[in-house]
Amino acid sequence: MAGIDIEGLATVYPNGVRAVDGLDLHVADGEFFALLGPSGCGKTTLLRTIAGLESASEGTIRIDAADVTRTEPGKRGVAMVFQDYALFPHMSVAENITYPLKVRRVAPATRTETATRTAAELSLAGLLERKPGQLSGGQQQRVALARAIASEGKVLLLDEPLSNLDARLRLEARTFLKKLQRDLGITTVFVTHDQAEALALADRIAVMENGKLRQLGSPREVFARPANTFVANFIGSTPMNLLPGKVLGSPSSNGSDASIGSVAVAGGSLPAATFSVPADASVTVGIRPEYLTLSTGDVAGPALRGEVVVAENLGTQSLVTVDCAGTLIGVTVPEETEPTPGTPVSLTAPATRVLLYTDHTGELITSQPTPVA
Ligand code: ADP
Ligand code: MG
Repeated sequence: MAGIDIEGLATVYPNGVRAVDGLDLHVADGEFFALLGPSGCGKTTLLRTIAGLESASEGTIRIDAADVTRTEPGKRGVAMVFQDYALFPHMSVAENITYPLKVRRVAPATRTETATRTAAELSLAGLLERKPGQLSGGQQQRVALARAIASEGKVLLLDEPLSNLDARLRLEARTFLKKLQRDLGITTVFVTHDQAEALALADRIAVMENGKLRQLGSPREVFARPANTFVANFIGSTPMNLLPGKVLGSPSSNGSDASIGSVAVAGGSLPAATFSVPADASVTVGIRPEYLTLSTGDVAGPALRGEVVVAENLGTQSLVTVDCAGTLIGVTVPEETEPTPGTPVSLTAPATRVLLYTDHTGELITSQPTPVA
């Protein structure tokens, strides 16, 4: 078991692309750590640089406190699972699983024992003699994982290992992977472009954009309190509402509660907590559809007033789009309370859920600690 320490890391390709651009990260011993970001943001490059398959142009990588920045891949103590699994088609499952051991000249009897034990852990018992071509996608994915685990690295690096599976199998494999990682307690870096997968699996998530780190936090933190509008847009299965707003009163100027201010948004106003921007400042107001409450008709106090445009079924919830003075705002409601289009409604939110971002840079202004429960 081992932690990973990355300092000032940059990976520049010969064509000049800075795929990883000045990154600092610490992955704790035994942690399930997700690298999340859109396609092309540098996730695979970062993983390959940790593995030693790409060389670092700047900075250092330490695994288990040892500087491995210039160490050859085979000696870093890492095992990697590639996106396409990269199984050897002519070898049996058993041979695939134990290939890294064969390379290290481990005795055949020990290899057979490892293959049997690892196959049992990954629900592959009975398939050891098959060739990869005779397996389902989910089984092939588990063989690739089994091979990585059998190599007994200190660190497991997984590059979008579930992306080749269909939706249902993906969910099963996700649960399986989480349980396996808990049982083994092996430090794991998991790359995905799927925010739901990262939220479901990881202890902590690093959100990347253009080779840079945009936010590092627990799934609850990045969901409830995105550090910038990029993360706000990227995280959540229903996108966060990001609306132009104007500060009406700063927290300090409000007599009754010194921590609550208010902000004008399309169709009305919302309370907002703990920020220090003067009145009249233009801001971007971020509010998740899940944190808005929809009431039919009017309500007393700060609210956004508008008319229901459309409702989409999300299962037990519905996503309702409300037209507030020409701006479309999403709100989720329990399916049984789904209003019909044309209904006049009011939207309210607790001050602690209304986030303010700067207009120009999109960085979070709200300073309150996250209510993450
Ligand atoms: P991700 O895995 O997040 O989709 P990658 O790490 O594959 O991103 O790519 C990051 C950036 O580096 C992209 O702009 C990509 O085009 C570029 N890139 C990836 N591999 C190479 C390469 N071998 N040579 C040059 N540029 C590359
Ligand atoms: Mg990739």
